Amino acid sequence: MQANSMQFIETRGNDGQRPLCVPFSDAILNPMSSFGGIYVPESLPQLGLPFLEEHLDSDYKTLARAVLDAYEIDIDAEVIDAALSRYDDFDDPANPVPVVKVTDNLYVSELYHGPTRAFKDMALQPFGVLLSSLAQSREEHYLIMAATSGDTGPATLETFKNRANVKVACLYPDGGTSDVQRLQMVTEDADNLKVIGIHGDFDDAQSALKSLLSSETFRAKLKEKQTHLSAANSVNFGRIIFQQIYHIHSYLELVRQGAIELGEKIYLNVPSGNFGNALGGYYAMKMGLPVMKILISSNSNNVLTELINTGKYDLRERSVIATSSPAMDILKSSNVERIFYDLYGAERTKELMLSLDNDKYYELTTEETARLQSIFCADYCNDKEVNRYIKQAFDNGYLMDPHTATCFKSHDSCREKALKSIVYSTAEWTKFSPTIANALTGEVDTHDIDALKSISEVADTPIPALISELFDKPIAQGAVIDKENIESEILSFLE
Ligand SMILES: *Cc1c(COP(=O)(O)O)cnc(C)c1O
Repeated sequence: MQANSMQFIETRGNDGQRPLCVPFSDAILNPMSSFGGIYVPESLPQLGLPFLEEHLDSDYKTLARAVLDAYEIDIDAEVIDAALSRYDDFDDPANPVPVVKVTDNLYVSELYHGPTRAFKDMALQPFGVLLSSLAQSREEHYLIMAATSGDTGPATLETFKNRANVKVACLYPDGGTSDVQRLQMVTEDADNLKVIGIHGDFDDAQSALKSLLSSETFRAKLKEKQTHLSAANSVNFGRIIFQQIYHIHSYLELVRQGAIELGEKIYLNVPSGNFGNALGGYYAMKMGLPVMKILISSNSNNVLTELINTGKYDLRERSVIATSSPAMDILKSSNVERIFYDLYGAERTKELMLSLDNDKYYELTTEETARLQSIFCADYCNDKEVNRYIKQAFDNGYLMDPHTATCFKSHDSCREKALKSIVYSTAEWTKFSPTIANALTGEVDTHDIDALKSISEVADTPIPALISELFDKPIAQGAVIDKENIESEILSFLE
């Protein structure tokens, strides 16, 4: 199996110090490659229409298994099945990703029916099983460190809870997350999880994490404890591999619902931050999914809109703007690098990425921009417009979160043809309730619980138990500390 397995190569070329290619297991345990690059599969499986036809009636897990089999990764079949069984914990195990018709041309694929009510569960749930199984089979111990402003923290904790050979330390800015997000983290009670609130904002949490990750003394101390460091961030291909499946599933759902004929092209419309979700759509398209274009929807941090529309990526005059769709408040969108590798090759990718690191700027040639525009289309939506789209959709019978709402604008502005479109919904209404309550009623809530109750009333829909229970659960993770004390806090947790 090992000998013939799919190999992974580097987006910025090889530095002569590392192997020229690695199997999937190595790429997920050590996701960083030469010159600060990341890993991509050497080739993509070619699935095409026969594959789609064969899986017209497959349930989600059967389809997922077939896509992963086509990848020929070096992971045992039992481990893959165990990973995919995490979808059994979603609302409807037979259909973990419902696709809902909202208007004639617009269908919403709901990626938030997992345990933390946001799309990060789609990839992190099965990924946790893979990583823990690999650690066990290699008899190694891993510390996963994460800094979060919202959705990644809860999903990472939930997936690794009580998993053998893996511990998680998760940093969050005290006061910088929503109530629901904070409660999802601090009520997690397991011996292998440590949640640490930081006095400061998200940037403080993230820079504290970065300095620990690059600290020699910290690594030496971990080594004494026979612990390896790893990351579950969105450049890890172990997450990307699970983010291709639901694009194929959603397409097949449209066929099953009679909205399209097999083979008919559609638009995919993705609320984008680090570009993992959109990259999954791009790979699905390259594997043979009939896609007209991929619409990239952003908030006012509109670097991706600018890139796709002008070929320029310019961070020189920019700083992050806090919006009502905070999971997309990102300026360096990491997975764009994999698209560049695919379109322009390793040498050019390295040049562009180093120029971004050094000069906070790069510019594609006219030809390169045209190639990008033949695949992607982009627009952004400010907070005011987000509120309007939330209200409008609600008046038409659909309740959605602010990230999803950004796609409704691109749906209006980006499509050149009247083809059916899939909008990806990345969070349940419960995760960003104050914004939604404000859009629906004009009220201004500082606490999630007030917003949750009022949306529940206006929309005549119950607050899901997974969310309402959070407010009564005991706090298991009480640490809120100064940045200077993070290292000692983590080391004593590892004792
Ligand atoms: C992470 C996230 C996104 C952005 O997804 P990317 O794959 O990083 O582009 C959008 N919406 C929500 C709610 C998220 O949690």
